[in-house]
Amino acid sequence: MKRKYAVLGWPVQHSLSPAMQQAAFDACGIEAVYEAWPVAPEKLGEGIEKLKADGYEGWNVTVPHKHGITDYLSEIDPPAAVAGSVNTVINHDGYLKGYSTDGYGLEKAAEEAFGRKPQDGAVGFIGAGGAANAAALHLAVQGTPRIVILNRTVAKAQHLAEAIRKLEPSCEVVYGGFEDDAFISSVLADCSLVVQATSLGLKEDDPAPVSPELVPHDADVYEMIYKRTAFLEKCRARGCRTTDGAGMLLHQGAGSFRLWTGLEPPVEQMRAALQAAVQKRQTS
Ligand code: NAP
Repeated sequence: MKRKYAVLGWPVQHSLSPAMQQAAFDACGIEAVYEAWPVAPEKLGEGIEKLKADGYEGWNVTVPHKHGITDYLSEIDPPAAVAGSVNTVINHDGYLKGYSTDGYGLEKAAEEAFGRKPQDGAVGFIGAGGAANAAALHLAVQGTPRIVILNRTVAKAQHLAEAIRKLEPSCEVVYGGFEDDAFISSVLADCSLVVQATSLGLKEDDPAPVSPELVPHDADVYEMIYKRTAFLEKCRARGCRTTDGAGMLLHQGAGSFRLWTGLEPPVEQMRAALQAAVQKRQTS
């Protein structure tokens, strides 16, 4: 019988994960299906019971369930528990363990794009949502010496800063809001990587979260959104090296595949499937 995996989201039809994960299972010769499961927020509990009853061995979790799923898990990997954000679940005969591979995805994507390791200097996050929480906590644990968190809602930046200090006391943390340009410019000044982790930029007419002028011109800039946003282009025009979120998507998926199968993920086959799915979407 085929092994079964899924991605839960609402909506989820746009997800690129089925193409990428199916390619990984096929490349490794594993008889498996990976499906998109649309699950409304108020039906999350029902959806999980159905996945368990139908023998699904694992699943990804995407917007808007990354936090809500934590109520249904038997155990959560510590950084994901602190972040309150889970994107990968393993089902061991009804015992559900949650992980987040978003931080690993960012780490590998930044290594590929910029040749950097987590310990290679200070990182600034613009945004303090689920993805920023998962990524900042992961980088702190992996040895990033200083992390700056800037967010529209300062209380959320503060909450993340406190979580980092608790999980990884050796990491220096600074946080603040979007109001004071002089403050933003001074705290980002020694960041060799700046990560745009807000959802601003998804729509064409979205404003930039902070002025690109405040980003050091010699910083590398990682945009979590899967396209080249206006913010990213303006940072590039300032001389920054820039890349969009496609690499993070690829590597978080590779991290999930490794957790489910224990195998080294076939990254190049996953990348090719992802690129083909993006191209198909653009032409349809
Ligand atoms: P989230 O938990 O909903 O957080 C949203 C973030 O955006 C918060 O920091 C929020 O600030 C900020 N924001 C939203 N609207 C804003 C506005 N009008 N002005 C200023 N700030 C605003 O979302 P998430 O899961 O962290 O995802 C964030 C982005 O990363 C999304 O675009 C998502 O697609 C992308 N992502 C990419 C990957 C990948 O693999 N490449 C993985 C995960 C996420 P407040 O706290 O003030 O509301």
